[in-house]
Amino acid sequence: MIARAAASLTLLLVLVLVLACTPPERSQADNIVLIVMDTVRVDHLSVYGYPEPTSPYLERLAEQGTRFDRAWSTSSWTLPSHASMFTGLLPSQHGATQSHLQLRGDPDLLAARLADAGYQCAGFSNNPWVSSKTGLHRGFEVFGELWRESERPSSLLADHSSVAVEQWFAAQRDRERPFFLFVNLMEAHGPYEPDWRYAWPVLGGPVAIARAHRAYDPVQDHGFVREWYAGDQPVEPEVLAAARALYDAEIRQVDASVERIVAAVDRYADPATTTLVVVTDHGEGFGEHGHVGHAFSVYDTLLRVAAIARGPGFEAGTVDGRVVQLTDLYPTLLQAAGLTAPETQGRDLHRQDDEQRLLAASYAYPAQVLGTFPPALRDSERLEPHRRSFGVGLDGRYKLILDSTGHQEVYDLIADPGEATPLTDLDPTILARLRAVAAASVTQGAAAGQGEPLGDLDPETLQALRELGYLE
Ligand SMILES: [Zn+2]
Repeated sequence: MIARAAASLTLLLVLVLVLACTPPERSQADNIVLIVMDTVRVDHLSVYGYPEPTSPYLERLAEQGTRFDRAWSTSSWTLPSHASMFTGLLPSQHGATQSHLQLRGDPDLLAARLADAGYQCAGFSNNPWVSSKTGLHRGFEVFGELWRESERPSSLLADHSSVAVEQWFAAQRDRERPFFLFVNLMEAHGPYEPDWRYAWPVLGGPVAIARAHRAYDPVQDHGFVREWYAGDQPVEPEVLAAARALYDAEIRQVDASVERIVAAVDRYADPATTTLVVVTDHGEGFGEHGHVGHAFSVYDTLLRVAAIARGPGFEAGTVDGRVVQLTDLYPTLLQAAGLTAPETQGRDLHRQDDEQRLLAASYAYPAQVLGTFPPALRDSERLEPHRRSFGVGLDGRYKLILDSTGHQEVYDLIADPGEATPLTDLDPTILARLRAVAAASVTQGAAAGQGEPLGDLDPETLQALRELGYLE
């Protein structure tokens, strides 16, 4: 009798241990939410250690899921970055770049794939680069181009997007199907004019807010960027500091928008079967490396991004230090839908392996940005150094930047995250691998538009690229 009881107890213990070690069963068709905080610099988010209280909500959200600490975009501005999230492809592959403002061909878009699998797909974008004009709306049953409701998309009321989301859930949501909800939030994009409610806790009070507003005029923002690059007058340090402070306040405003959207999602969908990802698409410069805004550069002020994932497979309160990229959202979100992703540059973030990755990023010849300068400034000699495209190869520690004139810089991102001092000595094997990836990005970018080609790649480089999956 005692022996039988002991055996039962052992069996029970084994069962408990097995259950404890087995990951929870994943739903095969989770609801999916992707929120992009446009132009939010990862190192200005308090959830990533910034000293100002810019993201109190994201700090709480990260406690409910996984914060990815080493994430990069594929480029330094909206269009290629979003196109990479939606396709899993690099800019050199999807073609939506500075010198070719559309997707090339008919790539398999995330929303279209999810719609084919029975998802109800709704998108709300505040950024015209993510729109029917660029083809990124394809696959969405509802696609709200919210910027149309204001002459200045980045100055819309902070609850604008969450109201649109709430209305969609209340009026159009089909409960028979799982859903994919995408939202692009533009508050942090220039011009910087935060609502005082969000400026107060970040800047410290009304006197500081008034001082910042006196120094920086949001109506002149585009003049501010043009003045920086091509004007006669240097931009005063206090103007730059005021712009940066108001930008920080706008990040707090985006944080509040994310909170309202997630609250709406949680009212209508069970968090246990909803995969929710919040990312940034690129950063913003305030004088670092001689840059403002987000053009002409691929330094990490622009290229590094934030990524926080909550839901099945993302354990609460965890930090993931693997090298990841926005391309990874494509297989990850398809996996959340129970779908197998086609082969792309992305990796499923649910996976637990520790693959050594070599990431590529690029910035094509800035035809579009140069076109935004008035003719008198467009020919300015001061713009001369910026008439080039860039390719990047990075492995998480080392990053190589190659431009279309052949100029090359290498940084140790661990020892020197601000990319202040280029390395003069690096293992030739590592250097060759990084350079091959960067060279392919910069050359292919040039081939797609008006960039300046680097010249033909040698057979070894081509072979390495093929092995690494960067060439057909
Ligand atoms: Zn953007």
